[in-house]
Amino acid sequence: MMKKFDPEIYNILRKEIERQRNTIDLIPSENIVSKNVLKIVGSIFTNKYAEGYPNKRYYGGCEYVDMVERIAVERACKLFNSEHANVQPHSGSQANMAVYFSVLKPGDKILAMDIGSGGHLTHGVKVNFSGMLYNAIFYSVDRDTGLLNYENIRKIANREKPKIIVCGSSSYSRIIDFEKFYQIAKEVNAYLLADIAHIAGLIVANLHPSPVKYAEFVTSTTHKTLRGPRGGLILCKKDFKEKIDSMIIPGIQGGPLVHVIAGKAVAFKEAMTKKFIKYQNQIVENCKVLCDELKKRGYKIISDGTDNHLFVVDLRNKNITGLEGQKLLENVGIITNKNLIPFDPLPPSITSGIRIGTPCITSRGMKKSDMVKIAEWIDETIKNREKENILKDIRKKVRRFASEFPIYPE
Ligand code: PLP
Repeated sequence: MMKKFDPEIYNILRKEIERQRNTIDLIPSENIVSKNVLKIVGSIFTNKYAEGYPNKRYYGGCEYVDMVERIAVERACKLFNSEHANVQPHSGSQANMAVYFSVLKPGDKILAMDIGSGGHLTHGVKVNFSGMLYNAIFYSVDRDTGLLNYENIRKIANREKPKIIVCGSSSYSRIIDFEKFYQIAKEVNAYLLADIAHIAGLIVANLHPSPVKYAEFVTSTTHKTLRGPRGGLILCKKDFKEKIDSMIIPGIQGGPLVHVIAGKAVAFKEAMTKKFIKYQNQIVENCKVLCDELKKRGYKIISDGTDNHLFVVDLRNKNITGLEGQKLLENVGIITNKNLIPFDPLPPSITSGIRIGTPCITSRGMKKSDMVKIAEWIDETIKNREKENILKDIRKKVRRFASEFPIYPE
């Protein structure tokens, strides 16, 4: 039907399906949802307006939507052991916005990780609302080790007295000590916001400590390691329930995306299974092997390794930029993204690094032995960047290899 009515969009979709099937996706913020999540997000829940919360809607006909949202909230609380959850944020950015708007006034001070070290746009970057509205100051990772330096963060916090401290990252490959962040925040009487967008799945599987018992606010996306539909999530202490809920609606959003909330509910249920724990373990194992295999081939990794689902490669010793690396790899069917390295001399549009992660390829069923092949193809591509015949051969191998793994896994 779609093919007949809108061949333009239909054909683009076919191409995207082929692209996803025939490439190796190493972008750590992407994943492949289960068939169940995909189905429910494509369901008729998309038809329903439901401004408000269960039992307090601005619209009629919400009895089933109420049930779905209640289940999603209950599952989120159980999964993360949280006192309250709001499952309505349309994205991770809106989850962060709701937290800031709940407790900050324009001009207040935020202390967060700088973008080069791994902070997100919404952690106070000038071109983002968070940097426009608030007085953002930053901590970086240690220049020599690439690791968080908690003593340094404590010093900055004591000097600057921020109203909120943000921890959590888009590219930090090591364990974050949320307890230490909490101690620092208490010392200076600041709120603590832990943004676990990247590591939520690892936290569920106990592969990374949880911030939930410490931080007043925990935000996340639901589509990264958590493997749910695209969207956001806020967990908070019950004292902040009213503030957070009313800041999402009527504060910054209108009608919730009920089909996505249903998808979140299904994803939370999946995350409670043994299979999910196994999956998270496999992500981390794959990531370690891929990282080690690249190190063996002379690649420099920020912080010299990884404890989680991602790592950043410093490409300077290979004499290419992040942008060049991303393009070269994409040309053979290996999808990565250029990424700033700490204290990067190059701008964000070029960068000196690429970010690599394993959630997506692990969802497709790739294992440790496959990581060795992928590392070899990455290295061969970068080494032979001027030899079109070799690149052509790698492109063929990548395509054949990738196409054997499903893009509609259970
Ligand atoms: N926080 C962190 C740490 C992220 O990495 C991201 C997304 O990349 C976000 C927040 C924002 O999520 P979204 O893209 O859903 O707005």
